[in-house]
Amino acid sequence: MSAPRTLLVTGGAGFIGTNFVLRVVKAGVRVVNLDKLTYAGNRQNLASLDADERHVFVEGDICDASLVEHVLSRHDIGGIVNFAAESHVDRSIDAPESFVRTNVVGTFTLLEAARRHLANGPAAKRDAFRFLQVSTDEVFGSLGAAGRFTPSTPYAPNSPYAASKAAADHFVRAYHTTFGLPTLTTNCSNNYGPYQFPEKLIPLVILNALDGKRLPVYGDGGNVRDWLFVTDHCAAIERVLAAGAPGATYTVGGNNEQSNINLVRTICSILDDMAPRPRPYEDLIEFVVDRPGHDRRYAIDATKIEAELGWRPAHSLEEGLKRTVRWYLDNKAWCTLVASGRYGRERLGLGVGIGPAETRATPPERA
Ligand code: NAD
Repeated sequence: MSAPRTLLVTGGAGFIGTNFVLRVVKAGVRVVNLDKLTYAGNRQNLASLDADERHVFVEGDICDASLVEHVLSRHDIGGIVNFAAESHVDRSIDAPESFVRTNVVGTFTLLEAARRHLANGPAAKRDAFRFLQVSTDEVFGSLGAAGRFTPSTPYAPNSPYAASKAAADHFVRAYHTTFGLPTLTTNCSNNYGPYQFPEKLIPLVILNALDGKRLPVYGDGGNVRDWLFVTDHCAAIERVLAAGAPGATYTVGGNNEQSNINLVRTICSILDDMAPRPRPYEDLIEFVVDRPGHDRRYAIDATKIEAELGWRPAHSLEEGLKRTVRWYLDNKAWCTLVASGRYGRERLGLGVGIGPAETRATPPERA
């Protein structure tokens, strides 16, 4: 990261936010961490920074305009990295409202506060300021067998989660174009690694396997995602923040396309080595009814961030998965703590559709 300054990081007690905050504070950046501590946020993740004056934790909501304005002026914020979100597709099928509130209204609230903050300040501050929107590849919709997403791929979201992130990204774009806010947007593929809430596929599979429970694989298991180890995503965000062109968007991915079934089998074989049991973990795999509107394939072309900013992922999928399995084996108490009383690894996201399931289950594939 170029100059030490104070960043407002939102959602910094969640999965990616925690990894980012731990990393940049260690590198000397001062962070004000604004997090509502929903089921997905955990203050304990940051306990190692409790005595570190470079980290200030503020429990609060990004939709609270006066709180956000107060934080911006009180701490002389030089940039915002917006991780705060409702992030689980399955929950967006069961209850989309909070996704609209946090992801759309919350992002708008941050943008508007940043605009006001800079409008009253010196030009040098405005020029150095960055608003980085942490977005997802899910905004692009579903690929067929060929092709990859680039920063110029048009948005075509299919889930309520993806639609809410897409709407937020459009506001980010508009605030750059209309008001000159120095924005940056990253569209990243699926992350995995330490501190991921166990509702997501990889930790769910690890924890269910260790408990001898079924490993649910949606549909035929053929849905493909491009997996990226979380610290590689954090490094990409640091690079974009330091050297990205205001107004630009970057697609970020690990060049690690895997079908869900292959991924689950790989995790099973890592567990067979690291935590052996009498029968192979693969025996626990169970195909379950598909997620409604389940996008078939995502894949990222990361040429722009690689060529312009020199970023490359440091972890292969196998290496990243081994580190992740090891982390969950070593942090069972964390898993119990974050889930306690709130989440029992039950199936989410079957939602209530209109008409027969087959009319809503297959998103169109991009040409
Ligand atoms: P997460 O669900 O683990 O964490 C979200 C954090 O935001 C939590 O700490 C939560 O308490 C906080 N939060 C939620 N609502 C808030 C509000 N109204 N005000 C303040 N804080 C609030 O999510 P994650 O997986 O770490 O994802 C972080 C960001 O990265 C999200 O914007 C997500 O869309 C994006 N992203 C995630 C992935 C992925 O694979 N996880 C991939 C690409 C992009």
